[in-house]
Amino acid sequence: VLDTEITACGSCGAGGLVTIIDLGLQPLAERESTPYPLKLLQCGTCSLVQLSYQADPHEVFPEDHPYATGNTTFLRNHFSSLARQLSRHLRDGDVVVDIGANDGTLLAAYPGQLALTRVAVEPTGQAAKCREKGLVTFKEFFSLGVAKDILNATGRAKVITACNVLAHVPDVHGFLEGVRLLLADDGIFITENHDIDSILHGLQVDTIYHEHLRYYSVASLSYLLGMHNLDVSKSELIPSHGGSFRVWARHRENILVFRERARETAAKLHDLVAAAAAEGPVYGIGATTRAVPLMHFGDLAGLVTCVCEVSTSEKIGMLMPGTTIPVMPDEYLIEQQPPHALMFSWHIAGSIIPKLRSAGYRGKFIIPLPEPVIRA
Ligand SMILES: [Zn+2]
Repeated sequence: VLDTEITACGSCGAGGLVTIIDLGLQPLAERESTPYPLKLLQCGTCSLVQLSYQADPHEVFPEDHPYATGNTTFLRNHFSSLARQLSRHLRDGDVVVDIGANDGTLLAAYPGQLALTRVAVEPTGQAAKCREKGLVTFKEFFSLGVAKDILNATGRAKVITACNVLAHVPDVHGFLEGVRLLLADDGIFITENHDIDSILHGLQVDTIYHEHLRYYSVASLSYLLGMHNLDVSKSELIPSHGGSFRVWARHRENILVFRERARETAAKLHDLVAAAAAEGPVYGIGATTRAVPLMHFGDLAGLVTCVCEVSTSEKIGMLMPGTTIPVMPDEYLIEQQPPHALMFSWHIAGSIIPKLRSAGYRGKFIIPLPEPVIRA
């Protein structure tokens, strides 16, 4: 991958890339060098925007790469905020990996009270600052091989971050296979990238240079991650570098985990409601649309006597779809005092329960999701 003319898309491999703009011959942006061609191409298949020419990464990111994250106040604050958000998903003993860790600013920003194994991957001389910060440091370009070394050293990672890295990686497929190998089953891969939209619509032509081999959108990055069985679960726009985005990705295999958990939860809910029904009638609360799939998925129709709604609801007097369960006004619940009320409107239980309590309901509430529980 040294000094290569690009003829096929770096993500999906399709040919026939279309030229967006030709900026002629230009030197590398961070140092004196021979001029290289600088032309922006777009893939018609996966929409990825990429350079026509790939300079030698060892020349683009040499030992004495002069850029340090910690020198920029904006980035220091930005990474502190990201580390705080991520720490909510972390527990003592977890491994966190930052690829393109630069001077270790992000890894150092994780709260000190969490006992984490912090792993920095950084190919330039900035790696020395990571070591000084006490981070487990791999002074290399991240790859499948490096992922295996980290795996042997620390085990799988709960969080892997790669901020402003994917645009620079010549072998992006090897890189993402490494991420996939290293990421724990319930792990999160977070990557931040400059948004092609800021270039095309924000006219940031000054961000087209040889360090940036690729210019992602959420769409083209999702396509690429999908090729490696990583699914984007969330994306957000962030202000870095004049317009970037952050995506949160997880293993696609987690869909199987979801299916399994959903079935287990439905079975658990059924057992809980059946046990409650053995003590006396169970009334549902909230004849909402979402009550219907839950009632059927959890096989609850034979266990619920009626579903109560505010007395002004137009559903009163009707039956719950696919059942013979009537919709009754809330007053009926107060009159009859069944021992259990099943909270179909569990997502707004915080406002409904106090209202029913002050109206005089004394029974227990069954909260169905995300974990079926009885609340006295
Ligand atoms: Zn493509």
